[in-house]
Amino acid sequence: MELLTIGAFARASRLSPKALRLYDEQGLLRPAHVDPHSGYRLYAPDQLERARLVARLRQLGMPLARIRVVCDADPPDSAAEVADYWREVEDGTRSGKRLATFLIDHLSREDSVLIDDDRSPFELRCAASCDGGSTRKSNEDRAFAGDRLFAVADGFGAAGSDVDPASAVAVRALEPLESASADDDPLNALDRAVAEADAAVREALVSDGPEQLVGEQMVGEQMMGTTLTAVLWFGSGFALASIGDSRCYLLRDDELAQLTRDHTVVQALVEDGRLPAEEADSHPKRPILARALHGGGGAQPDLQLREARAGDRYLLCTDGLHQAVAPERVRAVLGERAAPEVAAARLVELANEEGGPDNIACVVVDVELGL
Ligand code: MN
Repeated sequence: MELLTIGAFARASRLSPKALRLYDEQGLLRPAHVDPHSGYRLYAPDQLERARLVARLRQLGMPLARIRVVCDADPPDSAAEVADYWREVEDGTRSGKRLATFLIDHLSREDSVLIDDDRSPFELRCAASCDGGSTRKSNEDRAFAGDRLFAVADGFGAAGSDVDPASAVAVRALEPLESASADDDPLNALDRAVAEADAAVREALVSDGPEQLVGEQMVGEQMMGTTLTAVLWFGSGFALASIGDSRCYLLRDDELAQLTRDHTVVQALVEDGRLPAEEADSHPKRPILARALHGGGGAQPDLQLREARAGDRYLLCTDGLHQAVAPERVRAVLGERAAPEVAAARLVELANEEGGPDNIACVVVDVELGL
């Protein structure tokens, strides 16, 4: 077999002689022969395949040590190695993108202070309240307030049956976040947990419902599923995920801001400019959801990161509250700054005073300076 000089082999493999020397030193691509007198490296033509693979993997940005693992493995293990690597790159890009978004937001606000997660000066106080309302037979809303995780969910489709509503299934699936590692990127962790909640809803449908419906749950037809609005505390702020028409509000400097947007057919009309915003709440199709957790896979929650400030008061609630009680009254109750238990109970009471036409769930979370 005719051996190739390093120059000829470099041209054929599209690697530079310098790169070839490096790969030799790294044990990644040893020449077939090294002349003992001149020290010239000589390569065999059947080494071209490996050289081309190395070149392609370098194009992907793969580190040399990892390229060696791929090159030394046989298919399909080598293919799995490349797939693993690329998944890690994508995960890294996603969390990097979120961190960048967070920092851009942080740096655009003059009054914002970057706080070290390990020495958080904040403490949370919270309360959840959930009530069937005055007219519905069953309560398919759920509210959860833990140490780090806070959530509301509005289930639909299980009324009258003795199975857990999808809201309960989804909230239960999120609860492991309470003990999740602080090293986890909070938004990734929450995003994953929402996907798991969707899978749990699917499981519940398979074990409790007619199987042929799974995967064909038409959200627009409100067959079975749940909304979900959840926040996860990470020491200096919250990761927020929302799907459906449950909402998250923030009371800051006495102003109430709605942080989430409704995934409803009517809201989509408003955003398209086809319906005036002030007509949305009274529209006959207002409750029809455009997105929800319905066990179909590919749940698409809206995700965001919020930096905390002392004095922030978060409200999570289902439509049983935000459709029954005007935002100005909600703001007034929250602005009284009574303890979260008192505020949450008062909001449920107000919804019932308005007739309580729907189930009501709410969670109030206060961010306070710790001692
Ligand atoms: Mn509702």
